Amino acid sequence: MDRRNFLRTSALGAMVAVASPISFSANGQATKQTGRSGRLNLSFEPYELKLKHAFNLAKHQRTTTPDVQVQLEYDGIIGYGEASMPPYLGESVESVTSFLSKLDLSQFSDPFRIEEIHDYMDSVAPNNRAAKASVDIALHDLLGKIMGQPWYKIWGLDPSKAPNTSFTISYDANPVEMQAKIDETAPFKVIKIKMGLDHDKELVKAIRERTDVPICVDANQGWSSKEHALEMCHWLNEQNCLFVEQPMPKEMFEETAWVKERSPLPIIADEFLQRLPDVRRAAQAYDGINIKLMKSTGMHEAYQMAVLARALGMKVMLGCMTETSCAVTAAAQLSPMVDWADLDGNLLIANDRFDGIKIVDGQVTIPDRPGIGVELL
Ligand code: MG
Repeated sequence: MDRRNFLRTSALGAMVAVASPISFSANGQATKQTGRSGRLNLSFEPYELKLKHAFNLAKHQRTTTPDVQVQLEYDGIIGYGEASMPPYLGESVESVTSFLSKLDLSQFSDPFRIEEIHDYMDSVAPNNRAAKASVDIALHDLLGKIMGQPWYKIWGLDPSKAPNTSFTISYDANPVEMQAKIDETAPFKVIKIKMGLDHDKELVKAIRERTDVPICVDANQGWSSKEHALEMCHWLNEQNCLFVEQPMPKEMFEETAWVKERSPLPIIADEFLQRLPDVRRAAQAYDGINIKLMKSTGMHEAYQMAVLARALGMKVMLGCMTETSCAVTAAAQLSPMVDWADLDGNLLIANDRFDGIKIVDGQVTIPDRPGIGVELL
């Protein structure tokens, strides 16, 4: 399927599946699926995300992000989904499309069997979390459209309780460039900064010369000793910082627990945890968790993780990858039940293809549309 056909078919809300995947009946014979079949039809295409600015992290820099766009069709209704694959998560266009090619979702005549569909995906391969998330998001979009409601309503959440989102900036050695980056954050009520680089304190000082809005810090596993991590937490506590995310490598569990016991700031797990079973263990070394759909296999388990974390008395943060408004708006459905949101991934790319989440006065604003609430641009 070429891109033009994909987009045209999507825009028209086609009554026929955009691709007619081959599936196999019980006796092993190939059958072709068509629209209005009462079956789920999956189609997908790679879509490279182009970053507005190069992204500097503790361990690498990048200018594009691989991504796969997904559609799930059922009786003429189309749900949109997406897999975003930042390199450090170990998935690629090849691994995602390979996984999706193995799926035979046409075996599900009832799209509301979310649990069964997830169990089936987990039985096909144990990992491939972003690939599973793309199906899960498209499924939620589809189900919300069938029910005629957005997911925040289905979950019983008040959209006015959605938090402010942070906006991420990175250090620039050129003071003029650095000031321009800081000024670019003006519409946001929280600035997120990546640490674990050579200029951690200089970055905070540059920000504090321009603005006193709260910051939050993501060390991206970049601090290598518990003493340094704790010293940074104390220093950041004096700088109107809200929390510190993943201060040390995820393997340094005992050291992180040591810092958590002494830090004046909450310590949030990101790289440490992926899915629901990780939440309970995270509670021993972290004050909170950062939930991302590309880690959690999508909205279904993300919601369960948020519920469990709250039951354990933990803070909940909702993050995203560099991705289009499709996956970010899907995540935003959950935002009224979290403490902090970091939903700026769609703002970092130059080729978004959806209209969805809006940031109004710094606050996450969820569109009042069924499903995940996105429309193709
Ligand atoms: Mg992080």
